[in-house]
Amino acid sequence: MSYSFLDAENQVIANSLKIRFYPISLKSAKGTRVTDQNGRNYLDLAAGWAVAGIGYGHQRISNKLKEQYEALSFTSQLSAPEPTMVSLAEKLIDITPGDFPKKVWFGHSGSDANDCIAKLVPLEKNRSRMISFMGSYHGQTMGSLSLSGHPAQSRFIGSGNVVKIPYPNPYRPPFGEKNRLTDQVIQYLEQEVFKTICPPDDTAGIIIEGIQSDGGLLVPPDDFLPRLQEVCQRYGISLIFDEVKVGLGRTGKWFSFDHYGIVPDAIVLGKSLGGGLPMSSVVARKEILDVGTGIHMFTTSGNPVSSAASLETINIIEDESLIENARENGEYFITLLRGLQEKHELIGDVRGKGLAIGVELVEDRLLKTPAAEKTAAICYRCYELGMLVFYVGIHSNVIEITPPLTITKDDIDLAISILDQSFSDLEQKKINMDLVKQYAGW
Ligand code: PMP
Repeated sequence: MSYSFLDAENQVIANSLKIRFYPISLKSAKGTRVTDQNGRNYLDLAAGWAVAGIGYGHQRISNKLKEQYEALSFTSQLSAPEPTMVSLAEKLIDITPGDFPKKVWFGHSGSDANDCIAKLVPLEKNRSRMISFMGSYHGQTMGSLSLSGHPAQSRFIGSGNVVKIPYPNPYRPPFGEKNRLTDQVIQYLEQEVFKTICPPDDTAGIIIEGIQSDGGLLVPPDDFLPRLQEVCQRYGISLIFDEVKVGLGRTGKWFSFDHYGIVPDAIVLGKSLGGGLPMSSVVARKEILDVGTGIHMFTTSGNPVSSAASLETINIIEDESLIENARENGEYFITLLRGLQEKHELIGDVRGKGLAIGVELVEDRLLKTPAAEKTAAICYRCYELGMLVFYVGIHSNVIEITPPLTITKDDIDLAISILDQSFSDLEQKKINMDLVKQYAGW
């Protein structure tokens, strides 16, 4: 059944909307498990690209949706606001750092939220330029793709006001030296970029992912983000964190920058915020979001049903101690993955924070030649063995592990055994590479 369904899907659904790793089509899901149209169950380590943070089909969300829809199914908050959206905004202001007046903007996707940054930050500062990082994924709309530095956006030119600098990747240091990584990237920014094409007094903001996710699950050195904050403060540049994928507890703290005590000027949220419903948000200094009236608005922004789901999602994260679970079980996961690394030569690096974990595959550990096709094969084999996982990275060679934050140690033991089996099967050439090649991935 699933094959004929996918044929039909292929006839009518736009390819511009797809990244496919294997022929899955879903029917239902609960917790950390999804079920396909043939009734087969899978452990979902991707959580639908990190959206199912609290897991699938949470009863409390289901109840809230019904309650809200029956009370007030819709109002356009642009012109006739209601209290749920306001309570949600108050909650977001409460869980984000910053001892200054903050406000909240709502949208539907990480892309429209990063578009908010692309438009409003330069306007507020009255400076025209922005800086972002190579490998970053901020979205697919024109503003957010302009900020992005990922191959997925490289077919579009975007707006010319954004300068991109290398991300401090400890596994592949952009300037060659791992132990001088922070110094070298910061020096490049201050001595080269600021002095040539992007004067700091015309730079409005720097946007960064605290863990660069689609770029390959890259965790910067501990001193990098504090140093970046220092630079921003020195030149009066706004510091923006894109927390769309790793925010809301995934790294073992509310936000990735909380690991370093950083206070951003703006924080971008999306994906898991809506508990499965489309929802995104920017929490920022009041003056950024108040720079104009009606200049970044969408009719269904902050609609009451999505707002109710989002507020309940945050309450669930707190009530079920999901941040602690992400921290503890993330460490457990990484330790076991490092064990697998000792066994399988293909695993060049295991890294992450909490339940944002990357496993980078290389042909050989010395030259670090990316093993893209083998990465696709491992993901494919995991699917055949009952587990969903995707790959990311500018070289398409990093397995991304972003499961629901509710994942248990038993689930993790199962995940490790499926991964172990997949690596062994690949080593023994048991994976049908012709099947794998049918899926382009990205
Ligand atoms: N920012 C980050 C960090 C992301 O990972 C993504 C999606 N991969 C986006 C923004 C864009 O989000 P959306 O697909 O919801 O527009």
